[in-house]
Amino acid sequence: MSDQKENYFIYADPQKCLGCKSCELACGLVHAETDLFTAVLEGYKIRPRNRVVQAENVKVPLQCRQCEDAPCAQVCPSGAIGQRDGMVFLNRDLCIGCKSCAMVCPYGAIRVRSEAQGKGDGRIKRAKALKCDLCVEANGGIDGEACACVKACPTKAIALVDYEDLIQRSMEARAKEIAAVASGREK
Ligand code: SF4
Ligand code: SF4
Repeated sequence: MSDQKENYFIYADPQKCLGCKSCELACGLVHAETDLFTAVLEGYKIRPRNRVVQAENVKVPLQCRQCEDAPCAQVCPSGAIGQRDGMVFLNRDLCIGCKSCAMVCPYGAIRVRSEAQGKGDGRIKRAKALKCDLCVEANGGIDGEACACVKACPTKAIALVDYEDLIQRSMEARAKEIAAVASGREK
């Protein structure tokens, strides 16, 4: 049996998220390969691959979870999505913009956006899928400290984690709760 490690993914802590959308802006800018000043001055379209979502009183950024058994990869008819180097990789050159991946993603983490510069030839409209790429293209590989959203978050609510990190965080959170209950009993 092969012993492949699980994928990395972006973890966001709803208890620390302010809903400020700094992560969205940073994601859009890094993938547009520009800075805020230039983007505003030249009217660039910023297309973040994450989105801060509010549900009742909780705000949290959502993006691709880099699923191990990725439904988006299973339905893509052009082979544009697959597992590679600890993540779910999207080859935008192969994407035909059919939206199948967006339909099956349980997190709503894929968007298909037009890339048309003009009106096209009336036959082909260029649209491609977009999803979190863990900033591997910008950084030349997976680097948790260098992910744009991680760097931009003012409260450190976002981190690049692997499955072991996630378990560790969950255990630490439960341990803190248990300690708080125990210290309350002692008073
Ligand atoms: S895009 Fe959606 S379905 Fe595909 S790996 Fe990411 S979270 Fe999973
Ligand atoms: S939109 Fe692109 S990536 Fe998504 S399923 Fe269709 S071809 Fe594949």
